[in-house]
Amino acid sequence: MSQQQSKHDGSAVPRLEMTHIRHSYDGARRDAGRTWAVDDVSITVAPNEVVCLLGPSGCGKSTLLRIAAGLEPLQEGRISMRGELVADPSAAVWTPPEQRHVGLVFQDSALFPHLSVLRNVAFGLDRMRAPDREARARMLLEQLGMSAHANAFPHMLSGGQQQRVALARALAPEPALMLLDEPFSSLDARLRDQIRDDTLHILKSSGTGTLLVTHDPEEAMFMADRIALMRHGRIVQVGAPEALYCRPVDPFVVRFFGEVNEFAGIVEQSAVATPVGTVSAPGLVEGTAVTVLMRPEALRVARLLDDSRAHRQSHVVASRLLGRYSLLHLCVHDTAGHEQHIHARTHGVFLPKPGQAVELALDESQVFVFPAVSAAPAAS
Ligand code: ADP
Repeated sequence: MSQQQSKHDGSAVPRLEMTHIRHSYDGARRDAGRTWAVDDVSITVAPNEVVCLLGPSGCGKSTLLRIAAGLEPLQEGRISMRGELVADPSAAVWTPPEQRHVGLVFQDSALFPHLSVLRNVAFGLDRMRAPDREARARMLLEQLGMSAHANAFPHMLSGGQQQRVALARALAPEPALMLLDEPFSSLDARLRDQIRDDTLHILKSSGTGTLLVTHDPEEAMFMADRIALMRHGRIVQVGAPEALYCRPVDPFVVRFFGEVNEFAGIVEQSAVATPVGTVSAPGLVEGTAVTVLMRPEALRVARLLDDSRAHRQSHVVASRLLGRYSLLHLCVHDTAGHEQHIHARTHGVFLPKPGQAVELALDESQVFVFPAVSAAPAAS
């Protein structure tokens, strides 16, 4: 088999390979004091892989996606798709968006208003014979639960239905890569869950690669094989969702996945004393000032105590049932006796009364210790 052939059929060839991408919108200040919307990002998407670009608003996710699509010019770096170089300014290579074989879905995907749902989906299939075109469009509509609306026009559909049609339209020409930019964020919560689920199944069954932009960590964890968490134009950590959640590289990563209880402390004998017990701090030098981050689910009420022993004991301030779990507001005391308010989360219904003294236990797998200096926001 020639090298050229193996490039095209090898399942290991990434659908997308972006290398050392940089992008600035400061056209007038090209050299001095330039700020980077995307700053030296490299990322790949394998066939059948869903990669999520996750991060706060303005961190460069959409810019990176638009660069992949060819909707923004590439200023620095290289982009290959299915092993073929599609953009490299240093080699004067530029493949226009329409020749990149990408399927695009945005938050509000504009369907063609004058075309029926079926014709919207069949639109990009002009190289197929008419019967095949219609058969493929109908199959995608079926997979996305939209068969009954084939003859409807876009204005007759709800927002969620329009997004399903947009997805079918983008998938119809069997793109090498799907690029989705916040495709679910304009939908209400229950509809969103259903469409996410259907979308994940259809993306996985299509075998395409997908780059999905989202600011929602739950969505990223639901959809992604790998998450690239971005901040200030850079990737902070990339890996499987459980790697980011359970082995975060810095406090930003911990905090991004949900609220945490935070304590300041000092490493003594490879451990740190906190108001809820001592946590291990392996690999940190004695005397290091640290930030301890504790997810609410790391805290468990081990025992309800007799109220008469409540003086300076940890105690319940309030408890609330939040559906699948209960949230406890607790008052704990640091080594100097100062009160601190923290949150604990437990599965199911567990609603001890305010004032109830408690003994707490810790699941250290959801406790993270970092040198205090790394808690400072990184310069962009
Ligand atoms: P995200 O998708 O993570 O919200 P964006 O890629 O949209 O982030 O934006 C990254 C940075 O680039 C932000 O500071 C944003 O204000 C800036 N930016 C985005 N688009 C433009 C534009 N067309 N012109 C100037 N600045 C832009």
